[in-house]
Amino acid sequence: MPPPQANTVPETASRSLLTRWRRLWFPPPDLSRRLLREHRFRIAVCLMLLAPMSIGFWLVDRIIDPVGAERTLMLKLPFLVTILFGMAVLKEHRPWVVGVLQSIVLIAHLACDSLALALLDNGVKAGLGGYIVAYLFAMFILPGLPLVWSLLVVLFIPSVPLGMALAGWLPGFPYALFAMTMLPLSVCVLILMIFAARAGHLRDDLEQRLKAASNTDPLTGISNRRRFMPALAIELQRAQRQNSPLAVLMLDIDRFKRVNDRYGHFTGDQVICRLAQLCGENLRSFDLAARVGGEEFALLLPGADLTQALTVAERLRQQAAALMMKDGYGQAFHFTISIGVAGVAPGDDAVTLLSRADKGLYQAKQGGRNRVCVGSEDGQKKLGHLTLVGT
Ligand code: GH3
Ligand code: MG
Ligand code: MG
Repeated sequence: MPPPQANTVPETASRSLLTRWRRLWFPPPDLSRRLLREHRFRIAVCLMLLAPMSIGFWLVDRIIDPVGAERTLMLKLPFLVTILFGMAVLKEHRPWVVGVLQSIVLIAHLACDSLALALLDNGVKAGLGGYIVAYLFAMFILPGLPLVWSLLVVLFIPSVPLGMALAGWLPGFPYALFAMTMLPLSVCVLILMIFAARAGHLRDDLEQRLKAASNTDPLTGISNRRRFMPALAIELQRAQRQNSPLAVLMLDIDRFKRVNDRYGHFTGDQVICRLAQLCGENLRSFDLAARVGGEEFALLLPGADLTQALTVAERLRQQAAALMMKDGYGQAFHFTISIGVAGVAPGDDAVTLLSRADKGLYQAKQGGRNRVCVGSEDGQKKLGHLTLVGT
């Protein structure tokens, strides 16, 4: 029996290699955002470290070439400004925008560093190792961004000093040495980026599966109480803010112990699953059905007033009663359910609303079972199978 309203659990293993590879390079926006959210703090720390590092490099420059170092001081200002810029844009949530803006920071740093080296005595040759630092930072910043962007940045890093050298701004640039160090380094960094991105995706998949599993009832595949209660709180707030209706149904299978005793627990489980499926079939996409106890279900109907909730409840009751179940020997049997209904009232919280629905359920049981009762403020009314219960 297919699980009704199953939570979406990402099935990593069932994705084809091509899909996984494409997803690795071009992650979907929600995954990109989650990865970025997780990396934001790391990017901020990395950017902050650039400032003391830059001062440290300048002190070394000053020991090697005191005159040249004084001239590079003015280049430290745009350097520090870009760090602040990098920190400020971390508030942005769109991964691609963060990617572009952080790359601007990286390129500005590379350009400033290259110009500073050109001002130092023999700086362009001696400072070649400084470019390796750019990769260190890329390795911290890029794993939070889509892998295809990492590739572009990794390829772009060597092209900044190279372009400046070709433009004649870095006299004495050691092209051969630069190619020998930077090219293998680019390949190594890119491979590391692929592994880092893969690890990030795997962990995210596991987290999503865990989250979905923790919100899902293992027997029926529908939501459990852990998912229902926060959903109820959110919908209640929305209903009260927008002054819109909201209803809750509490369902319980009648004399379920007898079903277990007569037909066995396995058949009892099938009854629970069939009822869960029935709930799923009767709900709109934004309703929520959850198994909140052994054979108890709670239904959340946002936007439904009491009349609409009663219609749903009565339909469910009738459909459940009409279901023909079969035990392990093929023997047919029927079961019935009782339902308590409550509509949101001013000043309600999740507890008062649920306890009113529960009260309706209790009254339905008291009234003989296989019926729908509404917990309401205005006395008790009977409407055929429906009973309005006063509080
Ligand atoms: P009532 O009409 O008053 O609700 O009677 P009832 O027999 O349904 O009473 P009660 O709610 O006390 O009994 C629930 C029974 O449901 C008890 C328990 O053995 C059974 N049950 C709880 N969880 C499961 C489950 O996962 N599978 C099966 N097969 N039975 C379960
Ligand atoms: Mg029961
Ligand atoms: Mg019960």
